[in-house]
Amino acid sequence: MHHMTLAEIARGLADKKFSSEELTQVLLARIAQLDPQLNSFISLTQELALSQAKAADARRANGETGALLGAPIAHKDLFCTQGIRTSCGSKMLDNFKAPYDATVVAKLAAAGTVTLGKTNMDEFAMGSANESSYYGAVKNPWNLEHVPGGSSGGSAAAVAARLLPAATATDTGGSIRQPAAFTNLTGLKPTYGRVSRWGMIAYASSLDQGGQLARTAEDCAILLQGMAGFDPNDSTSIDEPVPDYSASLNGSLQGLRIGVPKEYFSAGLDPRIAELVHNSVKELEKLGAVIKEISLPNMQHAIPAYYVIAPAEASSNLSRFDGVRFGYRCENPENLIDLYKRSRGEGFGAEVQRRIMVGAYALSAGYYDAYYLKAQKIRRLVKNDFMAAFNEVDIILGPTTPNPAWKLGAKNSDPVAEYLEDVYTITANLAGLPGLSMPAGFVDGLPVGVQLLAPYFQEGRLLNVAHQYQLNTDWHTRTPTGF
Ligand code: GLN
Repeated sequence: MHHMTLAEIARGLADKKFSSEELTQVLLARIAQLDPQLNSFISLTQELALSQAKAADARRANGETGALLGAPIAHKDLFCTQGIRTSCGSKMLDNFKAPYDATVVAKLAAAGTVTLGKTNMDEFAMGSANESSYYGAVKNPWNLEHVPGGSSGGSAAAVAARLLPAATATDTGGSIRQPAAFTNLTGLKPTYGRVSRWGMIAYASSLDQGGQLARTAEDCAILLQGMAGFDPNDSTSIDEPVPDYSASLNGSLQGLRIGVPKEYFSAGLDPRIAELVHNSVKELEKLGAVIKEISLPNMQHAIPAYYVIAPAEASSNLSRFDGVRFGYRCENPENLIDLYKRSRGEGFGAEVQRRIMVGAYALSAGYYDAYYLKAQKIRRLVKNDFMAAFNEVDIILGPTTPNPAWKLGAKNSDPVAEYLEDVYTITANLAGLPGLSMPAGFVDGLPVGVQLLAPYFQEGRLLNVAHQYQLNTDWHTRTPTGF
């Protein structure tokens, strides 16, 4: 049962082959048995899951239908869940029970999903390895000595290990696409503003976007359908109609113009990944796509710009965690300043403190023009590069990451080495574009992803290309041994 995709589960439930309650029992038992090896969950919500499953079964018995009605999922632990711990992977919020549901959580619950739990993540979504969580590192099911990617590593490891079919995730600089690549999943980061950020704990508000991790593009379409849409509670949510994503999957790729940026194939890229990317291009050519070399000349400036803008926004967003209103508070503070200092010093981990300091520095008078303003100008140049490219092509294709998943601990002493691994993903966040990573082969037994980028609101096009690719390849069906 645990091998089924969301689409297969929907068909099985509609055909009354099993109930949502039966499936939920199976998956909860599987999580209890296997998750100790992976550490992919921070909280399990068995009681909620069983009551939601029973309710979904009752709705189906009453004649209701829907692809998500009775579908088991989990939420990254930065989506607020009413009455349930929402930790953001931090000691700061270890005792925080959200007073309301995030819009994404509420929308998916209304569609009938069953929440199995909250997944592990890098603290405040800062990281590319899922090693900075207060709850410990997550392991990659493809090799337990390697990282699963971050910051949505818990969602990725759990779905890859077949503990559940799909999970929510968020992407500020690659945190959906990079763990998808490292664990052989399909992950979609929608256009900025497509999915509501209300109740999604903020890291860098102008870059954060909720999306999903699943095994297939078909499943990403189902989940996106339940998440996307205008939300008056989020001032950056965009009031655009939500198309039928599943209906877009079967379009022909005949004549589709795919751009491959020459800057992607630089010295930093593992040549074995480059070869797999070229193979995926050939596969899409067979399906009728036309390939064109393009240029994204400002790509080299994207990492420095991102690592100024994201920490700057984080330093502002994280000022609300002050030990006064909610979250961690130090013992026996001597006065208010001591309370702030020790609550934040003890409640935040090293990477979060590093980002707050970098961000506060970049925003301070005297440095603002040199760093923050400059970074914003680079951001515009990165966006302009994409706009020019999309005049010539329909999709941009390249590697999701320069290297496969590294060993746990390998980059702990050098944060910048970890930042450099985001080189292919962060440009989409700087520009606000939608991006998808799909499985495209293996290097040393570790999965490799190919990234597709599209113009604003063209999630359907990304899903279409990935689905057609998946109908003609079987990388996405490979399962890690032991799971
Ligand atoms: N690795 C990037 C960072 O640490 C992106 C993280 C994310 O997308 N949440 O900022």
